[in-house]
Amino acid sequence: MTSTTASHAADLVAALLFILSLAGLSQHRTSRVGVVYGIAGMALALVATIVVAAQSLTAGAIALILVAMVIGAVAGLWRARSVEMTQMPELIAVLHSFVGLAAVLVGWDSYLEVESHGTAQTRIAADLLGIHHAEVFIGIFIGAVTFTGSIVAFLKLSARINSRPLMLPGKNAANLGALALFVALTVWFTISPDLPLMITVTVLALALGWHLVASIGGGDMPVVVSMLNSYSGWAAAAAGFLLDNNLLIVTGALVGSSGAYLSYIMCKAMNRSFISVIAGGFGIEAPSGGQEDQGEHREVRAEEVAELLTRAGSVIIAPGYGMAVAQAQHPVAELTRRLRERGVEVRFGVHPVAGRLPGHMNVLLAEAKVPYDIVLEMDEINEDFSGTSVVLVIGANDTVNPAAAEDPGSPIAGMPVLRVWEAEQVVVFKRSMASGYAGVQNPLFFRDNSSMLFGDAKQSVDEILRALGTDVAAPAAREQAGAR
Ligand code: NDP
Repeated sequence: MTSTTASHAADLVAALLFILSLAGLSQHRTSRVGVVYGIAGMALALVATIVVAAQSLTAGAIALILVAMVIGAVAGLWRARSVEMTQMPELIAVLHSFVGLAAVLVGWDSYLEVESHGTAQTRIAADLLGIHHAEVFIGIFIGAVTFTGSIVAFLKLSARINSRPLMLPGKNAANLGALALFVALTVWFTISPDLPLMITVTVLALALGWHLVASIGGGDMPVVVSMLNSYSGWAAAAAGFLLDNNLLIVTGALVGSSGAYLSYIMCKAMNRSFISVIAGGFGIEAPSGGQEDQGEHREVRAEEVAELLTRAGSVIIAPGYGMAVAQAQHPVAELTRRLRERGVEVRFGVHPVAGRLPGHMNVLLAEAKVPYDIVLEMDEINEDFSGTSVVLVIGANDTVNPAAAEDPGSPIAGMPVLRVWEAEQVVVFKRSMASGYAGVQNPLFFRDNSSMLFGDAKQSVDEILRALGTDVAAPAAREQAGAR
């Protein structure tokens, strides 16, 4: 078997491993195996690429590749070990920006190579030069949009800039105009591949990526994260065409299509228009409502909540981002166990975008060994709030905001939310009256049947456990026993 045939075979096996990885990751029971398939596929792809490259490269160039790989592996391992679960979306956004930047650099490199050597010394046939120019142009465009879009997403997710949508006058016309200009420039470039056109498309795409993501905010940010995932896949596929690397094309297409499909599912779950979100909030006008004075709120102490819970027949817990920040999942699981032992029906209502990444709450609750059968999706539990004695909103805010259902002027209007306010009593666990990720006031806090339990969610739940006469060290001990 020649090394080229071996490398094609390795590409095929790696592509199959990536498909198996995606299939494994689609269910929590098989997700670990899915990760192993992904690692195996990537290791095989790297080895195959280096073996093929070794035939045409000098020893010095190969040494450089190996040094870059070691630096990348060390940085990757360090970040993977140190990143907090709550920082995952921003890390993912940064990684997408690298893919976008790589696609831009590959495009420029490929252009300069053909310009300086002509087709004679490159692998491109003269009659396919027009196609190559189009590949370069499209690759740079997708890569640059992904690059700046991901940087804005990172800045918004890490709260370095405000998450509210940027509402420039004529923003829809600007986005459409930029797309039309790109199409016209592509045609021009295939006929006359000049340097100024390369510079123009790069600047245009960098500006468009920045504007597209800056224009999206609040409740639509989760879709942006998965949409950028999709863009980064298409950017990688474009780079694959330029590098003549079939595996990169297949992998990019897998990431691109699965990211697009996830964005579509999330849009459906959140009652958002898919086209509107991928087109940078196309058709969305500046929201006007949501910040009016709502009146007085009522405070409770942990002991009072404990008493309320002992009298409750049914309890629903609505967890959110604050539960993740406080790492309150273990005491929450302990509270659930204690209440169920006392005969109280306890269930969880999980919103599709609670927390900062899809499935965030499910991962935390599974880690704390909350039984799967009492963790329900929003659609499965939303009808049941009206018959429930007590709802504990633990670090959730936007996902339980009645303004989304009742105030058409709210920035999150139309986003389906957990209808917690329909229960007899609602207790909201948070540290202050601050708004959630979307920066929108929450009228729930001021309802007659709502009360606020201020403080770190973990400490508050620990205090309730204490008041219920529970050993609060138990969750930690159980956690350690589970780990062993
Ligand atoms: P929110 O972000 O709306 O609110 C979280 C609340 O938790 C805050 O109001 C905060 O209030 C409170 N909190 C923070 N730290 C603590 C703590 N230590 N103890 C107690 N409370 C705390 O959360 P939701 O989960 O309801 O909504 C998720 C939001 O994030 C949505 O807007 C969604 O669109 C967005 N998003 C979701 C993504 C996803 O894929 N799931 C990705 C990107 C964005 P206080 O400061 O007063 O304590």
